[in-house]
Parts: sequence; C-alpha cells; structure tokens
Amino acid sequence: MNIFNGKVAIITGAGSGIGKALAEELACRGAHVVINDINAERIRSVSEGIAAAGGAVTASTLDVSNYDAVKKMIEDTAGAHGRIDYLFNNAGIAVGGPAEDFSIDDWRTVIDVNLYGVVHGVAVAFPLMVNQGFGHIINTASIEGLVPVATNPSYVTSKYGVVGLSNALRIAGADLGVRVSAVCPGFIKTAIFTDSKLINIDRQKSIEAMERLSGVTPEQCAKDILRGVERNQAFIVVTAFARILWWLHRLSPDYILWRVLVDYRKLKKEGVILK
Ligand code: NAD
Repeated sequence: MNIFNGKVAIITGAGSGIGKALAEELACRGAHVVINDINAERIRSVSEGIAAAGGAVTASTLDVSNYDAVKKMIEDTAGAHGRIDYLFNNAGIAVGGPAEDFSIDDWRTVIDVNLYGVVHGVAVAFPLMVNQGFGHIINTASIEGLVPVATNPSYVTSKYGVVGLSNALRIAGADLGVRVSAVCPGFIKTAIFTDSKLINIDRQKSIEAMERLSGVTPEQCAKDILRGVERNQAFIVVTAFARILWWLHRLSPDYILWRVLVDYRKLKKEGVILK
C-alpha cells in the first residue's frame, strides 16, 4: 500500500542531496510536494525535473532560519490544499573544524539553520496538525545527534537539539493524532561535504575519511526514510554503520567517547586536521 499517494508533503532544503531525493521519491509515489531551498537555481531545477516526470510540485525559495518566511510557506500550503500531511524539516548546513577555532558565527549560523530552522517549522506546523487531528513531522537530525563527533561541534549541538525536540514533540503529539520522527543518517554522499565551511581541515582528506564509513546514496537514504515514516519510527537511523554506532553508544557511552577520541587523534596524525 502506498500511504503517500495524494498526500501533501513539504520538504525544506529540497534543492540538493537527501531533500531532493525525498522530493523526487514522494512525487513518484503520488504526493503533491511543496519544496523549497535557499538556493533559487537548485530548487528551480529540481522542480522542473519533478514536473517533467509528471509529478505535482510547488516550489519556492526560502531561508529556514527566517521564521516569517517559514510561517508564510506553511500557511500558504495549508490554505491552498486545506491540509498538510507531512513536513520534512530537512535543510541543513555544517561547519567543520576544531572547537577552539570556531568563531561565534560558526556556532550561530549552524544552530540558526539546523535547529531554529526545525523549530520554525514545528512552531507553525505542529499546532496546525493538532488542529487537523493528523499529520507527521519528520525532522532530519544526524547520527551526530545521537553520537558526538569532535570535528563538528556546532553541528553536533544542533543535531542533539533536533533529536531532543523531536522526541519531546512525539510524546506531546501522541494523543493528538500528530506523529513526529527524528531522522539520523550516517554518511550520505551529498553536496554538504563540498559546500560546508571548513576551518583547519583538509577537505579532500576529510571526504576520503568519511568514505571509509560505507555510506549510501541520497536516493537509497530517501527510500529508507520513507520506510521509517510508513512504520512511524521515533528514530529513523540510516546506514548500517550508523545503526551499529548508535547501538554501541547505548551499550556503553563511555566506550564510544573514548573511541571517538581515538579517531580524533588519528585525524590529526593523518593530516585531516591541519594542526
Ligand atoms: P545538501 O547540501 O546536499 O542539501 C542541503 C540543502 O539545504 C541544500 O540544497 C542547501 O541549499 C539547503 N539549505 C542550506 N541552508 C538553507 C537554509 N538556510 N534554508 C533553506 N535551505 C537551506 O546536504 P544533505 O546531505 O542532503 O543534507 C540534508 C540534511 O541531512 C541536513 O540537515 C544534513 O545535516 C542532514 N544529514 C546529512 C548527512 C550526510 O552525510 N550527507 C548525514 C546526516 C545528516
């Protein structure tokens, strides 16, 4: 059974990577996708592709860190369709580097987009869905929202926030008909690794180090996310590696902290971290 057919699904950050793959897969399964991205060129191209393939799509350019813009987009969608079935809060950015080299902007920009971007979506969509009596909010965190990594401190902060927010909202929505899930992918090869700001990190070497973590394509990731949505999972953890890491972290958080420290030292020795 295809639960997405005829449904209205908003996807933020749909101009690239996981968001793009989610939009294409949902449109393929018969959903009307309402897609947006801060990058006008990217979202236009994704929108044209979906329309050319016969999908139903509405596209706009928007910055998720701007509450008024997010509010307007969600209210316009509800006004046009009379309902919102799914909100995928997917847009995200990263800054990589040693914590001691981060400026306040390196903390703030990531938290503004990754955490406040999600807060803005839920602040508007959650009450709206409670009012409808149905709906599913899917917030993209990361495996770094369950297990910390030293090279992305503001990213880890934002993603732990997204997991906590999603779990709290899931409980709040349980008796009101609203479902909430946190998506926690491991390594997915997308533009985030070429676009993100790096401080004292060798980009090529860091991509090679990530590639050792046996990731999956954004298309496979989107399929895995939608399977988790169909099953209404609280945590949708994507890639086998991420699931093993999460399991080990629950078994022994101290062991994982030590293991991540060993890796951090290794990254310094291998010249991935340039200091
Ligand atoms: P991506 O860079 O391919 O796509 C992210 C999209 O978000 C881009 O099109 C970008 O323009 C858009 N975006 C950035 N800032 C925005 C803003 N302020 N407002 C609206 N749109 C904005 O990256 P991706 O890997 O597909 O990332 C999607 C989500 O998945 C992110 O939340 C990311 O943190 C998360 N994630 C990715 C991985 C991975 O390995 N790629 C792993 C775990 C979690």
